[in-house]
Amino acid sequence: MSWENNIRKVVPYVPGEQPVRKDIIKLNTNENPYPPAPGVEKLLQDFDWDALRLYPDTKATVLVEELAARYQIKPSNIFVGVGSDDVLAMAFLTFFNSEKPILFPDITYSFYDVWADLYRIPYKLCPLDEEFKMVAEDYKQENGGIIFPNPNAPTGVLETVEMVEEIVKANPDVVVIVDEAYIDFGGVSCLPLIEKYENLLVVQTFSKSRSMAGMRIGFAMGNEKLIGYLNDTKFSFNSYTMNMTSQVLGAEAVRDNDYFMECNAKVMATRERTKVRLKELGFTFPDSKTNFIFAKHESRSGAEIFEALKERNIYIRHWNKPRIADYLRISIGTDEQMDKLIEALKEILAQ
Ligand SMILES: *Cc1c(COP(=O)(O)O)cnc(C)c1O
Repeated sequence: MSWENNIRKVVPYVPGEQPVRKDIIKLNTNENPYPPAPGVEKLLQDFDWDALRLYPDTKATVLVEELAARYQIKPSNIFVGVGSDDVLAMAFLTFFNSEKPILFPDITYSFYDVWADLYRIPYKLCPLDEEFKMVAEDYKQENGGIIFPNPNAPTGVLETVEMVEEIVKANPDVVVIVDEAYIDFGGVSCLPLIEKYENLLVVQTFSKSRSMAGMRIGFAMGNEKLIGYLNDTKFSFNSYTMNMTSQVLGAEAVRDNDYFMECNAKVMATRERTKVRLKELGFTFPDSKTNFIFAKHESRSGAEIFEALKERNIYIRHWNKPRIADYLRISIGTDEQMDKLIEALKEILAQ
């Protein structure tokens, strides 16, 4: 048993289920219900498979340049990774290198504490208020870095750019990471602040708003120096992270901005419709600016509804955690999928 004393022991993150069967309504991992841009399909069909003999471009130049043009920044302001989980894991390793605790909300993306434990980074949770809003003052205590999603997950709550700026401004000695995984569903990005604050890193992903979770593409935007440090870590870890197809198809997805805007508008319209219908059924929820709704029923428990939906082949997400055990996180699917969800909820609540 002695060798086991020398093992790095971690309690891993638990992702939402990816069931093999296809006959379910999958509203459990915030994927986009619409396919990637049509040009992506075409490029994939025409892909030069012989090129797969070669290693991919370590700098993912096509993708980085397309993102730089889209967001009106320089390629040197962009770091790409294999999903934003990869980007965030690299960012934790690179920027959270202090003895002081990093800060993040008590209810948030459940990967943050896992990375902190993995890298032995001390952390302190800052409780969200009753309405699941962040309290700016909490982020003005001594710390070794700050991370939070905006809008937050799993609550769906968006903080203002002014609020984020207040936190960044109060913390010039550490890096502040804003995880904008859901920003394209009606939020206002903090990206313009990177010109003003060297210590701000804004992270986004192709998994939700660009319908490409399966391709694994994430990116960070920030000051050149910050991006330089991230690249130093990445190239000390694995140079060839992002594969060739992800680079090419990702660039194409960014090029088709009309399709991107159109799909997200559809998701937002479905979300607003779903809000009204959930309210009619006795659910309450903080206002969501994401592609999911974090809802609680007035009389039924979260666990009960979760199980009853699963029996009807509708998958959503539920956490047995303090403060949120009665909440259900429901991803926004197509109108048709949401109609089926509402019908199933009516049935369950009538019993
Ligand atoms: C989905 C999600 C991610 C990870 O996305 P990938 O790019 O698929 O790795 C990161 N942060 C938050 C808050 C998310 O919800």
